[in-house]
Amino acid sequence: MAEFYKTVTEPFLRDLRDLPIPEGVYVAEYVWLDGGYKLRSKSRTLYKSYAKAEDYPKWNYDGSSCGQAPGEDSEVILYPRACYWDPFRGKPNVLVMCDTYTPQGEPLPTNSRVKCAKVMDEAMAMGLEPWFGIEQEFFMMDKASGKPLGFPKHGQPEPQGPYYCGVGALYMEGRAISDAHYRACLYAGLKISGTNAEVAPGQWEYQIGPTVGMETGDMVWMARYLMERIAEKCDVVINSEPKPVKGDWNGSGAHTNFSTKPMREPGGLEGHIIPALERLSKKHAEHIAAYGAGNEARLTGRHETASYKIFKWGRADRGASCRVGHETMKEGFGYFEDRRPAGSMDPYVVSGMIVSTCCDIPM
Ligand code: ADP
Ligand code: MN
Ligand code: MN
Ligand code: MN
Repeated sequence: MAEFYKTVTEPFLRDLRDLPIPEGVYVAEYVWLDGGYKLRSKSRTLYKSYAKAEDYPKWNYDGSSCGQAPGEDSEVILYPRACYWDPFRGKPNVLVMCDTYTPQGEPLPTNSRVKCAKVMDEAMAMGLEPWFGIEQEFFMMDKASGKPLGFPKHGQPEPQGPYYCGVGALYMEGRAISDAHYRACLYAGLKISGTNAEVAPGQWEYQIGPTVGMETGDMVWMARYLMERIAEKCDVVINSEPKPVKGDWNGSGAHTNFSTKPMREPGGLEGHIIPALERLSKKHAEHIAAYGAGNEARLTGRHETASYKIFKWGRADRGASCRVGHETMKEGFGYFEDRRPAGSMDPYVVSGMIVSTCCDIPM
């Protein structure tokens, strides 16, 4: 059946899928986070295009099927928040990033966006213009074997060394997916700044940034959605857990590069970056607790990490919790990198918390 689907049915379905959508009709794919911070989406036909995400109609779904039905009433309301071009259906069809509310208008307990927005609004009002660059690391796993692409059926591949930014059929797997995703992000209008093959076989990274305030969480989640959709077509499972492969293999992080306007201006290093790192050092445990489940197995002090038990910052030090790059050290202003967040972190939580701690804005 699977074979029949691939060789006969799929080209036929593809032809139908490529039929033009009539003039004046728009398909919007509403995307949201379920109770376990997994992505969900469904489509709807609209007869009008809208200028801003907030103008799109609210919608609903069955919360009891997404592990987030609050009380008796299982209806959850989707509030459109950010809008991108749909690379699968093409322009003018759209993807709409939403967050989740009860019918009474209360955010669901799992709505991390709303808390983030409060902090970001305040930071923007203070003129701080928080910028982020998120480096999303993840593994591409073969659906049948459950192992990363490039891992043999039996035994282990050649140890880490040749894979990072590697080329050649001997070491590289998954580039077509990474490249397709890169193009899809650009088409959608996401601020993707680059991609690279990572240290373990089948491990890749893409970077979203620099993004301003709320753009960060919305764009990282939408980039993850695009990756899920593309990999789904290829029977590849995306795994961004912090330590999915036991042994001498790197885990996956989501290094979070951060700056505020004063950090980016002359004197920013002494006046704003170092004080922010000092604030972070005092709240290390709270940050670690919010940076993704199972992250302790990744933050061991090996594989380019600092132990989760300590906080240390350093100049160009990939074994530090937070790293200040050469350029920023030399110029005396710029940004720093928080290397602690896990690949599976929620960017609404992490970006909100960094602004809250560094800029002294209560969550
Ligand atoms: P690394 O050297 O750690 O691998 P990357 O090049 O993968 O770093 O990612 C760095 C990210 O930081 C990029 O997404 C980039 O757009 C972003 N970035 C650049 N300048 C700033 C800044 N001033 N503030 C926040 N993020 C920034
Ligand atoms: Mn990187
Ligand atoms: Mn990396
Ligand atoms: Mn990094």
